[in-house]
Amino acid sequence: PTMAHSKALLVLENFIGGKFVPSSSYIDSYNPSTGDVYCRVPDSGKEEVEAAVKAAKDAFPIWSSKSPLERSQILNKLADLIEHDLEAFAQAESKDQGKTITFARTVDIPRAVHNFRFFASSILHHVTECTEMPTMGCVHYTSRAPVGVAGLISPWNLPLYLLTWKIAPAIACGNTVVAKPSEMTSVTAWMMCKLLEKAGVPPGVVNVVFGTGAKAGEALVCHPDVPLISFTGSTLTAQRITEKSAPHCKRLSLELGGKNPAIIFDDADLSHCIPTTVRSSFANQGEICLCTSRIFVQRGIYSEFLKRFVAEAKKWKTGNPSDPTIDVGALISKEHLEKVRNYVKKAQAEGARVLCGEGVDLLSLPPGNQKGYFMLPTVIAEVKDESCCMQEEIFGPVTCVVAFDTEEEVIKRANGVKYGLAATVWSRDVGRVHRVAHRLQSGLVWTNCWLVRDLNLPFGGMKASGIGREGAKDSYEFFTEVKTITIKH
Ligand code: NAD
Repeated sequence: PTMAHSKALLVLENFIGGKFVPSSSYIDSYNPSTGDVYCRVPDSGKEEVEAAVKAAKDAFPIWSSKSPLERSQILNKLADLIEHDLEAFAQAESKDQGKTITFARTVDIPRAVHNFRFFASSILHHVTECTEMPTMGCVHYTSRAPVGVAGLISPWNLPLYLLTWKIAPAIACGNTVVAKPSEMTSVTAWMMCKLLEKAGVPPGVVNVVFGTGAKAGEALVCHPDVPLISFTGSTLTAQRITEKSAPHCKRLSLELGGKNPAIIFDDADLSHCIPTTVRSSFANQGEICLCTSRIFVQRGIYSEFLKRFVAEAKKWKTGNPSDPTIDVGALISKEHLEKVRNYVKKAQAEGARVLCGEGVDLLSLPPGNQKGYFMLPTVIAEVKDESCCMQEEIFGPVTCVVAFDTEEEVIKRANGVKYGLAATVWSRDVGRVHRVAHRLQSGLVWTNCWLVRDLNLPFGGMKASGIGREGAKDSYEFFTEVKTITIKH
């Protein structure tokens, strides 16, 4: 092959009605660990969304009339096919997103596989309700049916993981879908499309339209034949989606940002708490909506905690994401890296202390990664609760540590942000753990652990962190329409 060939860019195509469709214009997609453009993503708009919605509408009667068991078998087949190509998917996700190959291999892709298996199973076990009214000679029962064409919009931080967390329940329930992944991380969704036919997913059941939020995303949100939108992304975008969809009275599921507290009482088991809190702060470069970014430590153990926490954070190696010994990969984009760095600068300007990472320690990168979007895990202390670093979602490898005195005080401070997604509480006192968990304004509370998930149970945020929940029962309810039927005998 010529040089031109060996340097050829990966070119993605939309997947509509079971066929790959070339696009007339494209967006450049970067490899975050090198800063090179390596892929071209279709810049779709109204026309492509229109074609995808039509394909999804056409496929709906057949797909929705299949039995849950038939759909379940197809979902399981798709899970097997993705699992068979796990390594290729993991390599692609790491290159496209900047995350470490280890994280993609052990978290992203296994979870995408599990999403399909989980909903393939759970769809077989739902029961509807029935009540009797003997005096009226009536029985009432509920019946659930798929809604139609579901619009699914996902972010860049856990690309295939979060997209399949929507596709799997949507199609398990009998809907057909038009999905729009983030324009920055579209490759693994495109790879999945290549497996759909072999898995037995009929043409038109899963359509993927690539492009920006403003063009492709908004066209989907505004399409009159898409009655429900499941969205994961930022609170700002969710507000826009809510406005745009309001004239159509669409059903919305919104999984949004967080500013998640970790509350560490003086009786906590620090040997578990410290490594877990480092992980909850910096896993996936801190680009997980559930990442810890405010750490409240009880005064008596504050200095010991800080010393040990910084020492542990410094153990995390930043560098080439394809090196399996690396813990922190590249951030998603140049702009995002700049934004995250600016938060650290603002904290410093306000008088906070940066204990390690950005601006303090030297980041040395291999020659091939000099232009990548890297940043060291950064710990900030002595930052005020009102500071933007303690109020706004940073979504990078930055965490703030502050001291507190009493239970009452820390609950108030932990709740003192607009978000309410996830919190962690560390204490050996079981009564306190329950008390604090009940009073935190947070959709998820983990005590003495982090990111341990049972997909059966509701997932989602309070306040500006979202509307609605996802999970076995919650996703089933979101992706189906319920009817109450009364029979008089
Ligand atoms: P984003 O809101 O910028 O984009 C998310 C998706 O929405 C992308 O596909 C984007 O193209 C699309 N989009 C943007 N504008 C749109 C519009 N006007 N209409 C329709 N679609 C539009 O978010 P992001 O930067 O990709 O992701 C990071 C955010 O996602 C963070 O705030 C993070 O907390 C949040 N997140 C939340 C969860 C959760 O489950 N709660 C999970 C992961 C990420």
